[in-house]
Amino acid sequence: MKRDSAITEVKGIGEKTAQAFAKMGVYTAGDILLHFPRTYVQYPAAVPVGEIGQFAGGYYAVLARVERAPVTRNGSRFAVTVMNVGDGARKLQMIWFRMPYIKNTLKPGQVFVFYGKVTVKEGRPVMEQPVVYTQEAYRSMEEQLLPVYSLTAGITNNLITKTIRAILDDEGLFGDELPQEVRRRLQLCEYNYAIKQIHFPDSMETLIAARKRLVFDEFFFFIMQIRYQRKNGQRETNPFAFGEPEFVENLIAKLPYELTGAQRRTLAEIQENMAGEYVMQRLIQGDVGSGKTVIAFLAMAWAAHNGYQSAIMAPTEVLARQHYETFQNLCEQFGLNFPIVLLTAAMTAKQKRMAYERLELSPNAMVIGTHALIQERVVYTNLALVITDEQHRFGVRQRELLAKKGFCPHILVMSATPIPRTLAIILYGDMDISVIDEVPAKRLPVKNCVVDTKYRPKAYEFIAAQAAEGHQAYVICPLVEESENMDLENVTDYVKHLREVLPPEIGLGVLHGKMKNELKTGVMEAFAKNEIQVLVATTVVEVGVNVPNATVMMIENADRFGLAQLHQLRGRVGRGDAQSYCIMINTGDADTAKKRLDILTKSNDGFFIAGEDLKLRGPGDFFGIRQSGGIQFRLADIYQDAAVLKAASEECMRILSEDENLERPEHEPLRRRLEQFAEEELANMNL
Ligand code: ADP
Ligand code: MG
Repeated sequence: MKRDSAITEVKGIGEKTAQAFAKMGVYTAGDILLHFPRTYVQYPAAVPVGEIGQFAGGYYAVLARVERAPVTRNGSRFAVTVMNVGDGARKLQMIWFRMPYIKNTLKPGQVFVFYGKVTVKEGRPVMEQPVVYTQEAYRSMEEQLLPVYSLTAGITNNLITKTIRAILDDEGLFGDELPQEVRRRLQLCEYNYAIKQIHFPDSMETLIAARKRLVFDEFFFFIMQIRYQRKNGQRETNPFAFGEPEFVENLIAKLPYELTGAQRRTLAEIQENMAGEYVMQRLIQGDVGSGKTVIAFLAMAWAAHNGYQSAIMAPTEVLARQHYETFQNLCEQFGLNFPIVLLTAAMTAKQKRMAYERLELSPNAMVIGTHALIQERVVYTNLALVITDEQHRFGVRQRELLAKKGFCPHILVMSATPIPRTLAIILYGDMDISVIDEVPAKRLPVKNCVVDTKYRPKAYEFIAAQAAEGHQAYVICPLVEESENMDLENVTDYVKHLREVLPPEIGLGVLHGKMKNELKTGVMEAFAKNEIQVLVATTVVEVGVNVPNATVMMIENADRFGLAQLHQLRGRVGRGDAQSYCIMINTGDADTAKKRLDILTKSNDGFFIAGEDLKLRGPGDFFGIRQSGGIQFRLADIYQDAAVLKAASEECMRILSEDENLERPEHEPLRRRLEQFAEEELANMNL
């Protein structure tokens, strides 16, 4: 097996499975090894029937003796095998469907561990389809950290685990591209070892070591990519002529609100750049709700006024459409008739073609879209400004692609990821930075509460009352559908439950990442128009969604989210004039969760929040909780791995200062890797 061997070369993987893998971006053996676990679980300790509590639902391992052989009935559609375990007071019924042969294993007198989900059926606790283990077999599993992967239709966790086991061998498929010296100095483990341990850790210690190595690599190559080839990074001369700054002043005067001081300052910096000597490369950092969109609009309107095209790129379809509507409304309000063009990946070929045509004909169009904006076929006539909103780092490569088309526009990157200046300089080293450190004054701070599950009925009443007053609510669940590995709330079942408990006049909607794009957009638009009052969603609403009429954010299993993420979620409410509320349902340990929440109520500074959060958690605790910064890495997290980020940056600087072109033999693998990255990235963009 090689790194680039097709996944179908793994025994047992056929065309159909390969197609399902392709949907996850997995094509080769190397790809699946780089599909890291989302988190890890440990099997629960095996307990006698009497000790599994009130059968509250959830997964249990039950240690029990087979008293009487199981009985199989041949139902009309399939065989049902039933067996009771436990004593008079506490009985548990085991049920297997289509598995009559299970009775060959379950001989009376023997003791087994039964693992499965316990539910209550007709007043009796039942475990369906339990997996049967001998005591020894279960004991060895109990200690293991088992990987949990993100999945897609047709791909199970078990399949991924088996496939990876089949591919991993002792030699390893990867070369180690990190210079020996760096590894030694920072005491980083070997790459193939890290890959093996991240999937199947021997212990928590080896897992932490593996993660450190992989996180280091992610940062190291990311920074290297920015710095290497940046030697010719002198600023480009500004080819555009921007005049009449008072045009923007006039628009500001017509806004229904006063811009904050920070917004004004930022706008002035942008205008100065756009009319200045060099092409702009600026990062705007502003917390959720600080009002970045209107800044983007004003900059783009100024471009249109000066006869230039401009584009704003959003990370999701939903956000792109939201901006499109906002921009149309603003233009209408201001009585401007600049051409506004929407261009997203989900549009049909015909719609796209029409958008391209309008672009060719409109030298001062304001273009709004997703990544489709910079694809090969888009022909700009006159592009002077490109803005990216949330999460898209507009890197060297994208700039190169535009340059190939003959453009060298002003670049503005907008981010809600609050990071201190030192880190921003590492990650966005090639940019000037504006910070919007002020939120519009009139807003009432969001009221927070953290409660346990008993409070749910009250929360639903509260949501119903808010809806009756004309407001709206979000309910966030961590999962899309029920999961065998985790006992967490899921959107699919939750919305059914809400339908039962909320008054019928309240419209419900569902939003999650597995939905088709058009569907997502439809739901989001309906929510924005208040046709839906309660939106049950996963964290897809975390970034950028703006529905000022929403006043309640209810978060299920809040203890499972990183504080920075909770902060982002909370930022979806409190965007209008009305008082807003954030209800966090704690399903974890009461004390720890309370301590964490106190941090959230004490501060609005995302970086402070993330840092305090880390102090409260132990090593290993960070698996499964991602703080989620603006730049997406597989494993690395700019908050919790800030120290590794600094170290990676220092190593990059040192290497480049000693060997600017990476010509030394020991840097050869590194240089090849960077060149390969560059090709891959360009190829990806030309889809
Ligand atoms: P973010 O910075 O998170 O992208 P938005 O640009 O979506 O924030 O702004 C959030 C809301 O605040 C919008 O409804 C916007 O109209 C409003 N807003 C922006 N600036 C101001 C301001 N200076 N005063 C009052 N409201 C504002
Ligand atoms: Mg925004």
